[in-house]
Amino acid sequence: MMRKRLIVGNWKMNGSRESLSELDGIAAAAEAAPEVDVAICPPFTLIERAAARTPALPIGGQDCHAGEKGAFTGCISAGMLVEAGARIVIVGHSERRAAQGETDAQVKAKAEAVIASGLTAIVCVGETEAERDAGEAKARVSAQLSGSLPVAGGDVLVVAYEPRWAIGTGRTPTMEDVGAMHAMIRAMLEDLLGRERAGAVRILYGGSMTGANAADLLAVANVDGGLIGGASLTAAAFVPIIEAA
Ligand code: PGA
Repeated sequence: MMRKRLIVGNWKMNGSRESLSELDGIAAAAEAAPEVDVAICPPFTLIERAAARTPALPIGGQDCHAGEKGAFTGCISAGMLVEAGARIVIVGHSERRAAQGETDAQVKAKAEAVIASGLTAIVCVGETEAERDAGEAKARVSAQLSGSLPVAGGDVLVVAYEPRWAIGTGRTPTMEDVGAMHAMIRAMLEDLLGRERAGAVRILYGGSMTGANAADLLAVANVDGGLIGGASLTAAAFVPIIEAA
């Protein structure tokens, strides 16, 4: 099945009202590349302004709570993200799995809440450097996938493979390692969701993707796009990745 490429920027805890001007160039590049889907996930506080500024560019959240509402201080529900104008939500990013101790079961519940709210869920998985060195990378990613994937498939579900040691470090796995992991994820998706629903699920690579290495990474079989942190913060850095896709 042909899957449309998806390039997502994750601004993490970066950005201000002023930096929303970067969206103008990003939206223009996205418009010029209709064969690629592009989205930006700014901090929660910027979602509404971002969505209003560049209505054609999908804007997303970086996390949400699995519940609808209630006594959860500091949390935001998927429904609130919808109201703010978000169209996608990243869940289970390794920075949250590590710093907030998010479990696979919590990530799965979040992904289900995202999809139930009519949004697209990007579920992140990835091994640590120690796990890779111990030869356990595939086992780790496969355990995360079976524990954190929602039962829904199709184009409302996206998987992002992000080796933790490649995030923000300027290091990337070899193309062979990326290809082997993406092939395993593709096979697991078919097992878990069935061939048809799995066929529309895009698998993104994330971790130090830049304009310089995007073309090589995106040429690897089963790499359907990228989840980009540092290089998504400015149009100058992000547009070359959209162009490479
Ligand atoms: P990076 O981050 O592109 O800065 O390595 C990727 C991510 O954490 O999603």
